[in-house]
Amino acid sequence: MVLPPRLARHVHSARTWIVLGILAPLGMLAVSGLMLLDLRRDAWDKAEQTSRNLLQVIERDIARNAEMFDLSLRAVVENLHAPGLGALDPALRQLVLFDRAATARDMGVMLVIDENGQVTEDIGAVPPRKGSYADREYFRVHRDRTDLGLFVGAPIVSRLTGEPMLPFSRRVAKPDGTFGGVVLGSLKLSYFAHLFDRIGLGRDGAINLYLRDGTRVMRYPYEATDIGVNIAGAPTFRRFLAARSGTFVGTSVRDGIERHYAFTQVGDLPLVLNVALATGDIEAQWRAKALVLGATVLALCGLTMGLSLLFGRELNRRAAMQAELAHLSYTDALTGLPNRRRFDEVFQRTWKSARRTGRPLALLIVDADHFKRYNDRYGHAVGDAVLKGLAQGLAQSVHRPNDLVSRVGGEEFALLLPETDEASALRIAEAVHARIAGLDARIPGLAAGTAGTDAVTVSIGLAATGGPASAGDGDAEAADLYGRADAALYAAKAGGRNRTVRARGPDRARPGPLRSIPVGSTVFL
Ligand code: GH3
Ligand code: MG
Ligand code: MG
Repeated sequence: MVLPPRLARHVHSARTWIVLGILAPLGMLAVSGLMLLDLRRDAWDKAEQTSRNLLQVIERDIARNAEMFDLSLRAVVENLHAPGLGALDPALRQLVLFDRAATARDMGVMLVIDENGQVTEDIGAVPPRKGSYADREYFRVHRDRTDLGLFVGAPIVSRLTGEPMLPFSRRVAKPDGTFGGVVLGSLKLSYFAHLFDRIGLGRDGAINLYLRDGTRVMRYPYEATDIGVNIAGAPTFRRFLAARSGTFVGTSVRDGIERHYAFTQVGDLPLVLNVALATGDIEAQWRAKALVLGATVLALCGLTMGLSLLFGRELNRRAAMQAELAHLSYTDALTGLPNRRRFDEVFQRTWKSARRTGRPLALLIVDADHFKRYNDRYGHAVGDAVLKGLAQGLAQSVHRPNDLVSRVGGEEFALLLPETDEASALRIAEAVHARIAGLDARIPGLAAGTAGTDAVTVSIGLAATGGPASAGDGDAEAADLYGRADAALYAAKAGGRNRTVRARGPDRARPGPLRSIPVGSTVFL
């Protein structure tokens, strides 16, 4: 497939691959991060939904049971006023009094207690089991207040059965409205324990039932020491009281574990129920997944980045190698100057540009005089040294960045001078002659043997376009530039060497008679 040049440049650029190799994994990381956040939100949504459902189920069960209890208590209070009750046989009276109470679930004891705190009726025994309850909280509150209705007290241990109970009680009023005692019905705490036990809540999950005064009635998982503890001052408890129901994340005063609390008041009772899932449990599965996914994505991203960096480095290395090869293929190994191939390319380009802009272009072809004899007399190495000296001298004779000095043949060099007219080119040619004069003295093997006879000199053929002498001569002149410079060089050789010959313009391109001109002078061909 052939790519458009711009795209191809990007495809082959190491930077493109390194940037892609970094951006793509970063994108992958961002997407994975978002996905993980989404999964985490799902885990929380699920937990919240689960707690709310549980809370609702438990709350309904307790509320319904408590309602049954209250109905039973109300029935006993009502039945106490039944006419002729006192005259009944004790067993019959017990039946009449507690007839509707027997259906209540998980009931501990149900007693009628008189205004002195003594048991007068007992659902569990005829005659009633004896005991004084004047010291009990439920007795005292009903004695002191008439408006309590149903009172739910703190958990107590039954004096009759020894079991932990939650006491529900109602006041009994005498016909004149004064305190006539209480009807007590106690709910076994085991009821709550069984209710909560059926539910799996994770390692650190908990269900709590509190009285509104902060007393803990029951907790799952069950610990006997938790029951009856008052946490009214805890920040979490204050939040339970702030609304009828709700959810929040808080830290337990009991064990310092952070939990998600879903709480609600139980029916119209002074009870607060909560289902608390440990945040650690909620996120446990997600964490495990996130760890595997995160580690995999990070490893893949690291690998991708590493590979693209390696790939980019390889591309850079190749590009550097190619540049080096290109440089070598355009450079003459002996002198370090641009070679013939480079000259041809630049000459084509420069010539076209000069033709387009109409600006002048000058070309000097410089050839060492009688070079063969240096090789013959002093050896190839000295010949090479002379060539290097010549190259250096030529390079130092031009100063503009676009001037090109190249080695176009064995001992032949070309100076391509854009934006240079003939007069300026002549000055450069003279500078070349001046710089080359005395070169022999600077070349070790040569300096010893020349004794002034083998001075290094050059002949120069000069051709220019667009100068005053050839203005308006057109494309043909430019295309013929090299040929004219070469012919001028030939003329310089023929004219005695060590000189510059200026080519005629294209209209006068036919070779004319040759004249020998000393160094520093020029002749028209
Ligand atoms: P003329 O003045 O007419 O140019 O005479 P010349 O001897 O310079 O010209 P000719 O073309 O007869 O000889 C050029 C010599 O340059 C032949 C060759 O041995 C020598 N030469 C070419 N390239 C190199 C090189 O890289 N190193 C050395 N040492 N000599 C070279
Ligand atoms: Mg020569
Ligand atoms: Mg030559």
